[in-house]
Amino acid sequence: MRMDRFHRQRGLVDQRALMSTRVLISGSADGVGELFVMLRQLGVGVIEPGSIGIVTTDQMPASVFWKLMYGEFGSWEDWREQTTKGRCSVELIPQGDIVRDDWDIHLTLEEENDMFGDVNGLVNGMCGIVTGSIPPLRNIGLGMHPIHAAMRTVVAATLVNEALKVIGIRNSIPVSEVWLTVSCRIETADQQLARDHVRGVGGVLLDVSPSQDGLATIARYRYPIEHDIDTNELIAVEKQEYALPEIIDVGFIPWDSDFQHTGCEHSVENEEIASPASNVSILGVGGLGSWATPLICQALHGGVVNIIDGDDEIEMHNLNRQVLYREQDIGGAKATVAASRLSELFPHLQFNSFETFLRRAHVGEASEEGIDLNELFSDSEGENGVEDIDEELRQALKTSQIYLGCLDNMQARTILNEVALKSEMPMINGGGESIHGVVERLHDEGCMVCRYGTEVANAPEVISCTEEGARPITSIVTTTAYVGAMMAALTILELSGSIIHHGMRYTWLDGISNQSQVCKPPWFDEPCIRHNLQEIVG
Ligand SMILES: [Zn+2]
Repeated sequence: MRMDRFHRQRGLVDQRALMSTRVLISGSADGVGELFVMLRQLGVGVIEPGSIGIVTTDQMPASVFWKLMYGEFGSWEDWREQTTKGRCSVELIPQGDIVRDDWDIHLTLEEENDMFGDVNGLVNGMCGIVTGSIPPLRNIGLGMHPIHAAMRTVVAATLVNEALKVIGIRNSIPVSEVWLTVSCRIETADQQLARDHVRGVGGVLLDVSPSQDGLATIARYRYPIEHDIDTNELIAVEKQEYALPEIIDVGFIPWDSDFQHTGCEHSVENEEIASPASNVSILGVGGLGSWATPLICQALHGGVVNIIDGDDEIEMHNLNRQVLYREQDIGGAKATVAASRLSELFPHLQFNSFETFLRRAHVGEASEEGIDLNELFSDSEGENGVEDIDEELRQALKTSQIYLGCLDNMQARTILNEVALKSEMPMINGGGESIHGVVERLHDEGCMVCRYGTEVANAPEVISCTEEGARPITSIVTTTAYVGAMMAALTILELSGSIIHHGMRYTWLDGISNQSQVCKPPWFDEPCIRHNLQEIVG
């Protein structure tokens, strides 16, 4: 049970309560589709009386995440029959047949019939809000903006995150891991003797220490995770008490702003991405890349998408947030499976997949400005790293217009940033774990070294799952969907020639998003040899 589909989110929510919650969803077809995909990833409706009630729409959802999860169906009944039966409870409710009291909470996304619920989300071009009351309408319509789908995912993530708090199942403090430890008192003060004669299951050595009275040895054994027990059920974490704010504004520009005065005349209203030959490189198709990549592909009219990920095994506990993968994809390599699934949906794009971790050697020769990368960074690959350079990957990286860092460690981000700096192209950097996220653009206004300092930028920490020795982290779909969709939105804006987001950093803290102008971190006063710090500080 420990490493099941929901393992990584168990320290953030009461999983059993979440599974037995009854959630009603309504709105546009794609709005309903988006909410359903996220609620399913969280596990709503798996345990009785839990259920997801869908107020049916005339059209079926056609959003990219719906298609990835379910493909295409002609009717709601067919879809339910073929995909959810026996897996989760789904109730189809015709418009007008809603009995509100049957449900714990009612969520709406892009509601079109004034049938607003407890938490509501609306999207309009680059604007998006989540609110507990009837949403204030926007006066100026933007039509189908190229980032509309990405904004809808951003709003859906915020909406669902708020809903978890409103129904009172969110832990007041994240618990990243719960271990079950067996302790025993061994009647000898000789610790070596104790260690020689008492072992854990499978012959595992015990941690030993003297007992308080000095007469015996206390030994501890960590019960291994393969055993069928959910340790999170052995502790009780106080639940968060929560009142929904009146309006949570998650858009790139405020919901009530007048576009004439926001500089958004430079944006891409009702237009499409100009270039039919985009070239995008995405490093990492786990939690963040799973959400960013499909949204970007959907916006592209042609071109090349390079997918780079060295993780050669999709695991069950990835499935609570990595929407690119299904149960039948478990065991496959992420880059290959992602490229194959996306090329089915987007046959007009060329996908290149690289099952490799990005190495310093992929950056290429020293840059023209004469910067010696080996002086800037210690090369953990050693000398032989250069021998097996994947020339194809090097070429792919060289021709990209934009780079996405959807990664879990700083060093790989910094190497990707080197590639971007050499190509003089922007990089969209994203990070997300637990209930925190950050998205930023790195280009002329600053690089990884400017932002984080040489030491932090090169920290090789790889956050893996829960194996001992690695820092355990929690992850949940609301955070990864928000960060991934924001990365996609910035990428699409960039490829469209929009400049509104330069020098901005977008942070997410438990559903509240914030925009700030990037500046020099207070603890960091090293000069960056590429960027004049004064310029980026100003
Ligand atoms: Zn710099």
